[in-house]
Amino acid sequence: MIKAKKKFGQNFLKDESIVQKIIQAMPNDDNMVVEIGPGLGDLTKKLLLRCKEVTAFEIDLELCKYLKDKFSDEIGKKQLELVCDDILKQWGESSLYAEKYNLIANLPYYIATNLILKALDDKKCQSIIVMVQKEVAVKFSSKVGDRTYSALSILADSISETELLFDVGAECFDPPPKITSAVLKLSKFTNYENLFEGQKELDQFKSFLKAAFAAPRKTLIKNLGQIAKKEDLIKEFEDLGIPLNFRPHQLESEKYHLLFKNLK
Ligand code: SAM
Repeated sequence: MIKAKKKFGQNFLKDESIVQKIIQAMPNDDNMVVEIGPGLGDLTKKLLLRCKEVTAFEIDLELCKYLKDKFSDEIGKKQLELVCDDILKQWGESSLYAEKYNLIANLPYYIATNLILKALDDKKCQSIIVMVQKEVAVKFSSKVGDRTYSALSILADSISETELLFDVGAECFDPPPKITSAVLKLSKFTNYENLFEGQKELDQFKSFLKAAFAAPRKTLIKNLGQIAKKEDLIKEFEDLGIPLNFRPHQLESEKYHLLFKNLK
């Protein structure tokens, strides 16, 4: 009997119907699938029934040994590649994988935001379906006007269609976590790469959003005052028809892009 290890964020999904709902939400394409943290392999098992190729990254060597036995046939047929290592070491700065892939995972919550941001940056990653802490799912999927609309919402909304699919209660896991979880789906737009001239511009856009949301209750123009001259901001706001008293959560992502390009 394998005991869950807190340090690796292990909460195993025990409710079959949730596993099934995650599988049903997968895109209908031939892309290979990457799973982060297969755990005891319940989701992996269902993925293998549906996908040609799965690569799974598991940090816990005890679980790795268990998974190697459980999926020895699939590993032998090369349908499953099991990488026993820390996903963050494997990912580095470039693409995780040479081919296009879809990411499906019940993520370890302690690194979930970081992993979603890496997957959004990774040009080979076409879609992301992940179970995360509900708060994180809300941050990525909020729409303009929502109090929870954030820099992460704008980033996700610029690159992908974002949906919070459904909530998952603590009772669906063993051991039950102290929080509610939710399944988040991000389907990348086919032409999203044209939005920025390169990684450098994307990084500049992220810094711009960080400044815009530095103090969410203050006005947007006040926040942006840290990185641009007041007179330039007033001119751009007026040209784009943005009210000067708007708070950061009130401006749609298209206008953020226009402001960013014009102020550069
Ligand atoms: N997928 C399984 C499930 O749904 O029951 C387990 C999910 S559990 C929330 C998170 C999994 O991620 C665990 O198996 C854990 O060992 C693994 N994990 C945690 N940190 C990791 C890392 N840095 N790299 C790879 N796997 C990691």
